[in-house]
Amino acid sequence: MTFRELGLIKPILEALAGLGYEKPSPIQEKAIPPALAGRDVLGCAQTGTGKTCAFAAPILQRLNGEIPAGRPIRSLILTPTRELALQIQESFEAYGKRLPLRSAVIFGGVGQQPQVDKLRKGVDILVATPGRLLDLQGQGYVDLSRLEIFVLDEADRMLDMGFIHDVRRVLKLLPAVKQTLFFSATMPPEVMDLVNGLLKNPVKVAV
Ligand code: AMP
Repeated sequence: MTFRELGLIKPILEALAGLGYEKPSPIQEKAIPPALAGRDVLGCAQTGTGKTCAFAAPILQRLNGEIPAGRPIRSLILTPTRELALQIQESFEAYGKRLPLRSAVIFGGVGQQPQVDKLRKGVDILVATPGRLLDLQGQGYVDLSRLEIFVLDEADRMLDMGFIHDVRRVLKLLPAVKQTLFFSATMPPEVMDLVNGLLKNPVKVAV
């Protein structure tokens, strides 16, 4: 199987080739086609399996095209830690190098002004940790009302870190109609509660 056979467009294929990715990893092979088709995906996968590319490449491809007026945030990736958030945004930049889409990353523990400045310029894809997202949303800097694709990354870790209430508050800010890509290394009952409330007829992929 090749990335081309998964249905990815040339600018993304070239970016992946430039990074030395020769063939898709198992999670990429299973998740990319349904994600490109607009389906919800429930992915059981750990960090290191290539799951970032499994959601980032389809998001970039689906958002590629005309930028809507007002440049709304069209994709949100919610992840538990600053390190993961930074890595994910770097991946969006790398895979989307040849596309005119903009991403930004926000997380706590640092000053908010540079993050606010970036948001004000308009971003298509926002990578965020829950606390800072809610903080900036509460201050009016983040509007999620036109979101198209939501990613919940490392859901089990999010719950282990005590972020369940923050996650539920974020979910309430999202439009009802959207595509959701949900990743967790394990699927305990609390994670399945979130899955059942959030995903619609998901394609289940495990690696
Ligand atoms: P992730 O699980 O998304 O954190 O990715 C783990 C590492 O694998 C990262 O350093 C990626 O750059 C790399 N990677 C992801 N997909 C591929 C691939 N298809 N071929 C080679 N490396 C990859």
